[in-house]
Amino acid sequence: MKKKKKIVFIISNGRSGSTILSKFLGMHSHCFALSEPSHFDIEIKKNGYCSCEESISDCAFWGKIIRDIEIEQKIPISNFNTSQKPFHISHKRIGKIASYLHLCVFQLTAKELFRSPYLEQAKNECLLLRTVANNTNEHVILDASKSFPRALYIKKLLRKEFNTGFILLFRTPEETIYSNLKTSYTFKLKGETINLKKDTAKELSHITEEWRKVTKNILRLSSIFRLKPQSIILYEEFAQSPRKAFERLSRTLGLSWEEGMEDLSQSGHHMISGNYSRIKAKSILPPKNDSRNLPKEDLDYIKRETRSTMRKITKLNHKNAQ
Ligand SMILES: [Zn+2]
Repeated sequence: MKKKKKIVFIISNGRSGSTILSKFLGMHSHCFALSEPSHFDIEIKKNGYCSCEESISDCAFWGKIIRDIEIEQKIPISNFNTSQKPFHISHKRIGKIASYLHLCVFQLTAKELFRSPYLEQAKNECLLLRTVANNTNEHVILDASKSFPRALYIKKLLRKEFNTGFILLFRTPEETIYSNLKTSYTFKLKGETINLKKDTAKELSHITEEWRKVTKNILRLSSIFRLKPQSIILYEEFAQSPRKAFERLSRTLGLSWEEGMEDLSQSGHHMISGNYSRIKAKSILPPKNDSRNLPKEDLDYIKRETRSTMRKITKLNHKNAQ
């Protein structure tokens, strides 16, 4: 029997370094990094950049995937939805509870409590991951789409075809929030400088609350579904010592260390969406502590608001290191 390939999901908050962690792990010869395949439909619509420095329409890899979906699966790519349906049925409390109930029942029984458009969408994502796996030689496929419920649905749906693993990635709230406050990005592509601007600037309190909410949900779901403790990574520790972080993840990945993995300049992968470090990062830099540029009262506010959640992460990480 053919050995099952493995899909490893990176679960994190936005701006936590999942793209660079993904790019680094993808340097392993048996690992293929995708960045955020959940944004496949958006990237096609806007013809975004792949990490191979081509636009999606010019990238041979994604061109083949799109053809396989359209020709073999007979699905017009414009109807192939991977990100339009939100996890929550409604933003009211009852809608949120119903979404989690659906997820839990599906995890336990593989049956639907009620018809969920989110689950239908997850089936498209399974088809996409299956098509990617058929077009790559690597044994491990890295999916850094970040969402926990999405990964749990896909894990269950693909249980007969793939093994799965989870990496929970956390970065200090000060740095995550500081990075979220940035509204423009600059990077070089084929010698040209490209400037990108975010549409809206968000309030500090809003981003802080968002960080807390998402992080608490990650902790809650990992405790409910009892994920193995070795799959926790703190971004700062990873940036300080990528090799140590890799060793910690080697069981989850099922891979052992290869020399030269820290050199990101030779990546032959096809990462889409996520941070532009998928294109510009050529090495892993030690943590820069950029949040020191924030006014002291803002830093104090973030610390105060995130202290108890941070304590839980430290405890979990400590248990994980033992
Ligand atoms: Zn590409």
